[in-house]
Amino acid sequence: PVTREAVAALLCRGPNRHAARAPVAVEVEALRRGIVGGELELHYQPKVRVEDRTLAGVEALVRWRRADGRLVPPDAFIPVAERHGLIDALTAEVLRLGLAQAARWRGGGLAVPVAINLSMDNLRDPAVVGRIVEAVAAAGLEPDALVLEITESRLAQELTLVKEILARLRLAGFALAIDDFGTGFSSLKQLQDLPFTELKIDRAFVAGAAEDASRQAILEASASIGARLGLTVVAEGVEDAEDWGAVAAAGCHLVQGWHVARPMPAAEFERWAGLRGPDGG
Ligand code: C2E
Ligand code: MG
Ligand code: MG
Ligand code: MG
Repeated sequence: PVTREAVAALLCRGPNRHAARAPVAVEVEALRRGIVGGELELHYQPKVRVEDRTLAGVEALVRWRRADGRLVPPDAFIPVAERHGLIDALTAEVLRLGLAQAARWRGGGLAVPVAINLSMDNLRDPAVVGRIVEAVAAAGLEPDALVLEITESRLAQELTLVKEILARLRLAGFALAIDDFGTGFSSLKQLQDLPFTELKIDRAFVAGAAEDASRQAILEASASIGARLGLTVVAEGVEDAEDWGAVAAAGCHLVQGWHVARPMPAAEFERWAGLRGPDGG
């Protein structure tokens, strides 16, 4: 249950000398109401193939549309949802929205897999597997319509359980991506132990790689390991033509980033995808 104390703990008390850099304070109760009250919306960012720039998939990224019209970015409220027991509800809502969108797109002839981000906290309860399977079936979709991206922002306490749940998700037919690879706790060990199908190289090693020898070295080594392990290698944060050149040279399969497109509301994404036409024209 969400307590008044928990809410108060999030509020900024007195002058905060770090105010300029502090994340937006989010009230837990408002977030809870926002999740159940339909205030979450998804923006969509394409993943395109390096070889021919055709659309290979799309990542759904959550935003919170507050009553006053402000659009709150996920980094400002996902950690709050994780800390206050709201992350399962949030993920369920994101799944519901993303799968409904995927089904509409499929109906309209746009059959690309939609990627959803899972928090490590979602993988503490084995019931998550059944819930995702049911949500996909309820949307009239096959498991290959969904990619599950997992970021490990801190060391998981119950790695054996997480490992088992990921194995069951993989067995159910979902693609599994290790997100932000190379940062946090997304490590080589995880790559070896967990049944991932996709490796997303963090933008820290992508943006500016052409002008930075150490970034380029990590980019190339990560792409090489991913390909050797048979994973689809995605470069995140490709911001310009130089970045594109660096990730192409490193052997990445897919590209995501501002150079291709920013995350967009569904209607805008449809225009973007439609404008490119069925043969990329
Ligand atoms: P992520 O999954 O690694 O998503 C990629 C982030 O990089 C997105 O930020 C995207 O807007 C941003 N990005 C894409 N291309 C570029 C680029 O070329 N340059 C730069 N500088 N940034 C780029 P966003 O949308 O703010 O999301 C931040 C993080 O929040 C995500 O990182 C993900 O970890 C988390 N997140 C987003 N949606 C969800 C969700 O539904 N559930 C959970 N648990 N986490 C989510
Ligand atoms: Mg992601
Ligand atoms: Mg990422
Ligand atoms: Mg991230």
